[in-house]
Amino acid sequence: MGTLTDMLRPCVSSVSHCKVCSAKAPLYGVTDFNKNCEEAKGVYLPLTGVPVHYYQCSRCGLVFTIAFDHWSTSDFREHIYNERYVTVDPDYVEARPAANADMIADFIKKSQSLACLDYGGGNGTLTTLLRHRGIDAHSWDPVANHEDACPTGSFDFVSAFEVLEHTPEPLATVEQALGFLREGGVMLFSTNVFDHVPTRSMDHWYIAPRNGHITIHTKPSLQALFARFGYRVHHFNDNFHLALKSVPAWLS
Ligand SMILES: [Zn+2]
Repeated sequence: MGTLTDMLRPCVSSVSHCKVCSAKAPLYGVTDFNKNCEEAKGVYLPLTGVPVHYYQCSRCGLVFTIAFDHWSTSDFREHIYNERYVTVDPDYVEARPAANADMIADFIKKSQSLACLDYGGGNGTLTTLLRHRGIDAHSWDPVANHEDACPTGSFDFVSAFEVLEHTPEPLATVEQALGFLREGGVMLFSTNVFDHVPTRSMDHWYIAPRNGHITIHTKPSLQALFARFGYRVHHFNDNFHLALKSVPAWLS
């Protein structure tokens, strides 16, 4: 374990390559490691003096940083998903799991017997709420359950709320999440897309290294990412999306 300055990969290039589509990605901007999502509500952490540079893909619009590419799970736990994380994401404890449980129960209401996996479900609060409703729900989180075995078997429905913006490896993460689906399964996920944000918008609340927001998508970047695995993406809005190959009977 080192200091942040030692640990973050220094930005030595003004152009990178997109982690989704490999196109050239010029420097987008730079911010302090402690920039967080709650600043509009007055939560300003002391600046660390550690810069985090972001690039934007010239083709699909993905905004990303390479500063965390070499971090281990324990690095993320020590510096981001630590005991102070709740300060910069207070809704993750109760409010968001409760709202997401309502949404999933409504989304799958036409079928009583779907096997469901919440991927990246943290401590499993959402899954507990779904089980209370009689849903066959399971949870697995690549950070929180790092030492635990992956769930075996395959699922009709995978959810992944607030996951894709947190991964430094979008291809590997989506491949793993989709790998839990059985044929005909679908993945419902949330991540805010950047399609309608002006260029050079480093002040945007969603670019927030302290929250672990290190990969910010656009609709084209999501389409390109899931297309690599044979899936198309339906966008309900700028935050909620559904990946599928075909519409299952219980959704039609
Ligand atoms: Zn791209």
